[in-house]
Amino acid sequence: MKVAKFGGTSLANAFQIKKVCDIVLDDPDRKIVVVSAPGKRTKDDIKVTDLLIAVAKARLAGNDYKDELEAVVARYKEIADELDVEDILPEIRETLETVASADYNDDIKYLDSVKAMGEDCSARVVAKYLTSIGHPAKYCNPKKCGLFLEHDEMGKARILGESYENLEELKYEKQICIFPGFYGYSKDGQIITFSRGGSDITGSILAGAVDAEVYENWTDVDNVYAVNPNIVKNPFPITEITYDEMRELAYAGFQVLHEEALYPVYVRGIPVHIKNTNNPKAGGTKIVSRRSHFDSLVTGIAGEKGFLTITITKYLMNHEIGFLMNLLKIFTEEGVSIEHMPSGIDSVTIIARKKYFTPEKEEIIVNRVKNELKVDEVKIEKDLAIVMIVGQAMEKSVGIMARAASALSSAGINLKIVNQGASEISMMFGVSEAYCDYSVRVLYKELFRY
Ligand code: ASP
Repeated sequence: MKVAKFGGTSLANAFQIKKVCDIVLDDPDRKIVVVSAPGKRTKDDIKVTDLLIAVAKARLAGNDYKDELEAVVARYKEIADELDVEDILPEIRETLETVASADYNDDIKYLDSVKAMGEDCSARVVAKYLTSIGHPAKYCNPKKCGLFLEHDEMGKARILGESYENLEELKYEKQICIFPGFYGYSKDGQIITFSRGGSDITGSILAGAVDAEVYENWTDVDNVYAVNPNIVKNPFPITEITYDEMRELAYAGFQVLHEEALYPVYVRGIPVHIKNTNNPKAGGTKIVSRRSHFDSLVTGIAGEKGFLTITITKYLMNHEIGFLMNLLKIFTEEGVSIEHMPSGIDSVTIIARKKYFTPEKEEIIVNRVKNELKVDEVKIEKDLAIVMIVGQAMEKSVGIMARAASALSSAGINLKIVNQGASEISMMFGVSEAYCDYSVRVLYKELFRY
């Protein structure tokens, strides 16, 4: 059994939805289909999820929201008319009106319930269309199927363990299951959405629950590329990548799937296959636990800005037992995540993300480090980008670090930090933010154009 998730551009209009259905019907193993809300039809278009957010915001502001709601209905009307399933429209209108006009006592919960309706209505339309062309399909409601979520300490949606057992039942469904992505329910019946792009997570959860042979993630590109195509033109396509490599690249800003989406399939060793709805014949990119082949020495290169360094110096630091533990304790107590921690004999540098190290946190942490640890100096530099070179094949080859460092030095780029873990799957360079994209280009030219 395969779980196939289709993203917003694959549901953007009737023409795209027909492609989705052709793909689904092309393989009888595609029994569970997860759909996003209709995305942009053109570059300047608005996603249905954003139209729904506008509905909710108008209501929350105490304004009339009729026009905003009609804009959403109009998107589905255009789709339903072209698919010849106009009789679904009263159901769509009622669904949208009921949710938008419902009583609420919590703004966030209300917003969640409205913005989830994009995927909900997509699922209704796709199920109806497939059935209308002679392939019985069923709209699956996440509450009825038992997809239960709760909010974690940070307010993010987290799946409740029992959901996996509930969703496993979908295995025995005779019809094609069309499941809306992006949301589930709390145990007390409230809609909870994942963060934006979260339909990827729903697909991954369902693939995990039914122990799918593969989780197919259908999008609008042929492959994942070795570097961001906005930085390097026509980069090398990746045909296969491991979960670990993907995580390392995602860390440095490589955006392919929603960050949390891989976990449910990763723990069960289910491969992910990223494919293009607009070009289903293209091979796509497989994310696997273990590679079957290597196309290149390096799998991918990514760079991300927005880091800072906090360098703490204390004479005879290495003699002081417990120094690092006490330092880390301060960061833990202040709730600031530490990304890396290269150290010297009398100094240690903490790398953190600027967005978590607010001016208020900075003042508290610097004072605590100075007072509690009696250090000589605390120096903060707020100009760091992290560039990662990732590839499992690097483990067996000699000289990549030398080539990378020499290419960067020939390009006049100063290396502030260099880090390579013992797993040898990745190496990290810290450079000035202004050199982030340039470093990626230089490294790509050196390591891929050999
Ligand atoms: N429709 C939602 C969004 O635009 C979720 C998704 O597409 O995955 O973020």
